[in-house]
Amino acid sequence: MTIQREIDQEINCASCQAKIDLEKYLKAHKVCPVCNHHGIMGAEERLNLIVDAGTFIEHDTELYSVNTLGFPDYETKLDRDTKKTGRPYELLSGTGQIGKHNVALSIGDISFIGGTMGAVAGEKLTRTIEYATKNKLPLITIAVSGGMRMQEGTLALMQMQKTAAACTRHSEAGLFYISVATDPTYGGATASFVSLGHIVIAEPNARIGFAGPRAVASIRETLPDNFQKSEFLIEHGMIDHIVHRHQMKSFLISLLDWIR
Ligand SMILES: [Zn+2]
Repeated sequence: MTIQREIDQEINCASCQAKIDLEKYLKAHKVCPVCNHHGIMGAEERLNLIVDAGTFIEHDTELYSVNTLGFPDYETKLDRDTKKTGRPYELLSGTGQIGKHNVALSIGDISFIGGTMGAVAGEKLTRTIEYATKNKLPLITIAVSGGMRMQEGTLALMQMQKTAAACTRHSEAGLFYISVATDPTYGGATASFVSLGHIVIAEPNARIGFAGPRAVASIRETLPDNFQKSEFLIEHGMIDHIVHRHQMKSFLISLLDWIR
């Protein structure tokens, strides 16, 4: 008789530190059952949660970053994160269906160079928005970002106006843009496409801002406990809705039904 011993796999919640059974945590899409903390998800996990199964067609997979400025160790980090994520870029982009609605969408990934936005993510996002404009599709972006990529300097910063201009043309064509910000969304992403959604949604307790609290604290102001959290931002008119991860897909479908 074979005795099978199950190895308990547990993780600690990053917020309340409760021990959580890994299988249950993954089934709950990385939401802590004790404190409701929304853990960090990869782009593919988000895709599976939001997009109808089998409908996603990825676009622009031929783009990859190069070390144009000769920034030390950049290639090493690109190689490391390409192996880690299985793709040479941080942004999944393409078309798919959400509740049978055709959409163009992009999804960021914090696991690739901290989700920072360089020339490749900017180009992929811009092409996605332009595809949406040309094909009269609503646009959905799901952001997670450490800001613009310092290893690409001005080339990264230029992606802000490029994506913002594409958003403007999409809007001027009478098309609808839903922006979803997840924890954490910072820097130039917040200062460009993330804030340009006709409706901006955030997950609960997500940190969203331009400069982070440490940089802001340098002006010697006392910051509130929930500074730059979704619950603070909604009170100050920076976002429109806070939506629990488990309700995100049905919420997006209700918006897409509404605009049809
Ligand atoms: Zn917790």
